[in-house]
Amino acid sequence: MDANKIREYIKEKGYPDYRFNQIIEAVFSGKISSFAEITSIPKNVREELDKKFSFFSFKNLGVFNSKNDKAFKFLFELYDKHRIETMVFEKGEGEWVVCVSSQVGCPVGCLFCASGKKGLKRNLDWEEIVDQVLFAKNHILKKKLGDIKRIVYMGIGEPLFNYDNLIKSIEAINRYIKIGKRHISVSTFGYIPRIRDFAKDMPQVNLALSLHSAVQERRDELVPFSSKYPLSKLKDALSDYLNITKRKIFIEYVMIRGVNDREKDVYKILNFIDSISKRKYFTVNLIPYNPTSKEFESSSYERIKEFCNLLISEGVNSTVRKSYGSDIKGACGQLAGY
Ligand code: SF4
Repeated sequence: MDANKIREYIKEKGYPDYRFNQIIEAVFSGKISSFAEITSIPKNVREELDKKFSFFSFKNLGVFNSKNDKAFKFLFELYDKHRIETMVFEKGEGEWVVCVSSQVGCPVGCLFCASGKKGLKRNLDWEEIVDQVLFAKNHILKKKLGDIKRIVYMGIGEPLFNYDNLIKSIEAINRYIKIGKRHISVSTFGYIPRIRDFAKDMPQVNLALSLHSAVQERRDELVPFSSKYPLSKLKDALSDYLNITKRKIFIEYVMIRGVNDREKDVYKILNFIDSISKRKYFTVNLIPYNPTSKEFESSSYERIKEFCNLLISEGVNSTVRKSYGSDIKGACGQLAGY
C-alpha cells in the first residue's frame, strides 16, 4: 500500500486528518485485505480508495501449503511483472515467522541458492517489503493459526544492497505492524560497506552473517561475490559492529557434504570468530543443505550434529536449523520467484 499517496489523497479531498490514521490502523492490523473492509471510515471513502488504490503492491499468484501446515509460500507478481516469493512458518505454538525478500533476484550468486541463479533484476521498494509481511499476517490471522512474531530478511536478495528500503521497511514494520526490532533479523553475505551503518542505524535488529566457509578460497567458490569483501576485512567490520551494538552475531552456515563440513572447517570458523571478539558473542546456526542443484548434497544429520557439538564444546553456541517448507520449495536457498 502506498501510504504517502493515500495521505495526499485524503488531504486533497479535504477529509479530516484522522481519516488517514484510521486507514493506517486498519490496514496495518493485518486483519483486512481490501479497503472495503475498513468499517471505521464512511462507505463512500472506502469505495473511492478501492477504485483509486491497490491494497497490496503486488498480485498474489499462489499460496502453497507445506504438508504439515507449518509453512506457507506465497508467489507474488509485482507491478512490472517481476515475481518474488515469501515464506511464513510456525516456529512455536501459534508464533509465525515471515521470511521476506528484499530484491528481485540476487547478485551474490551463492552456488547452493536458487535466488542467486536468477541474477539481480531490481531492488524492492520498502512498501513491497512491508506488504509481504502484511499479506502473510492477513493469511495467518484469517486462518486463525496465530500471529506473526518475527521477521527475517532471508528471502530473495541481499538486504544490505537495498539499504534505504531495508531501513524504511524495518521502521514501518516496527511502527505500524508493532513487531519489536529485537524480533527482526537481517542476513548479509558480508557487505562490508554497510555493516557499520547498519550497526549505527539499527542497533537493536539482529545481524546474521551468511558465512558458509571460513576458508577464503572455498568461500569465494560458494559465495562468488564475497571475494570482493575478504574475511580479513570482514572481521574488522564485524568487530566494529559488536563494539557499537554490544549484540550477538548469528553466523549462518549451510552444511554441504564434503565441501565445508570437515572437522578442520570447525577450527577455521573458530579462528575467524577469535579474530573478531570473544566466542560468547556468536551463535552458529547450521542449516542442512536444501537441494537446488545436483552438484551438492547435504551433510548427514550425524555429521551436522558432530559439527554442532564440536562448536559447543569449544565455547560457541550452535544450533541445527530445522528446515521449513522444503516440500514446497520454500526452505533456505530454495526461494526463486519462478
Ligand atoms: S543465499 Fe542469499 S545472498 Fe546468496 S544468492 Fe541466495 S539470496 Fe543471494
